Amino acid sequence: MKSHENINRRAVSVTAGVAMICGALSWGQTTSHAADAVAPGAAAATTRTQPVQPAPEPDSLLAEIIKKGATMEEVARLRDPVANNPVDALRALKTGNARFYGGVARRPDLSANERRAQILSQTPFAVVLGCSDSRVPTELVYDQGLGSIFSIRVAGNVIEPATSGSIEYAVEHLKSHIVVVMGHEGCGAVKAAMLPAAQRNKEPANVRFLLDRIVPSIASLPAIRDDKARMREAVISNVRLQVHLLKQNPVVTQATKNGKITVVGAYYEIGSGAVDFLETPEELRLSAAELRAIAQQVRVSANAPQHSHQDH
Ligand SMILES: [Zn+2]
Repeated sequence: MKSHENINRRAVSVTAGVAMICGALSWGQTTSHAADAVAPGAAAATTRTQPVQPAPEPDSLLAEIIKKGATMEEVARLRDPVANNPVDALRALKTGNARFYGGVARRPDLSANERRAQILSQTPFAVVLGCSDSRVPTELVYDQGLGSIFSIRVAGNVIEPATSGSIEYAVEHLKSHIVVVMGHEGCGAVKAAMLPAAQRNKEPANVRFLLDRIVPSIASLPAIRDDKARMREAVISNVRLQVHLLKQNPVVTQATKNGKITVVGAYYEIGSGAVDFLETPEELRLSAAELRAIAQQVRVSANAPQHSHQDH
């Protein structure tokens, strides 16, 4: 476990939900801030007849055992919840990723009979739109086996007609309860989208098509000197953009409204193997400048006949 790499890994975009996972990454750290903040008399005031514990968070089991200094073996024994709702689906992904980055992945496999039975149907609990990058294989990152993840991978994890159609299919016809748009550390597609237009225009048309889907998200990146931090911010900004576009999809909107699915963003850190999730509106919010750049992009695309259907 490379805990030394993980402890201060959040330079930007730290938010409550992400911080919880970040806490999970400071493996072996002695105590939580919350525990530090308890006044000496507070424990005495807490009696068995006056429970003061707040309602458990969706992923409290994972957070709780890690806070208590769980061993790798304890994490390995964590059971994935039966993911038949959005909350449990997210928890199953977090639990699986914790096993993966903790070095205790189960790499679930099926018996020959179980595999044959899969011919009948598929019931993936999660849909993940990730990057084609060879270092980011979705099932491995979430420690899931055959039939658990409806995986869509395209350079830069962009929303465009084919990826939208795949997601719509899964949301409409399969029993998935979460859609994750997952970017990753050092994404080459995002890096290419950050190049000057003159350089991007030297790429073949289909590559330009992909890069054009990313460009609006990096139109107003904050000035960050550190290259790694700037790159991270660019990838997260692209995730926010793609989640924004996805949430405008009528099929996804309807399923979200019905409570069948939730849509979240995610950032996979290659070095540690850990995924940070972007779940709340604050974590997923685009700046006014980014929204303006998206509107501009939609206008440009609308004038380009070959790309006239890419947005919903
Ligand atoms: Zn990538």
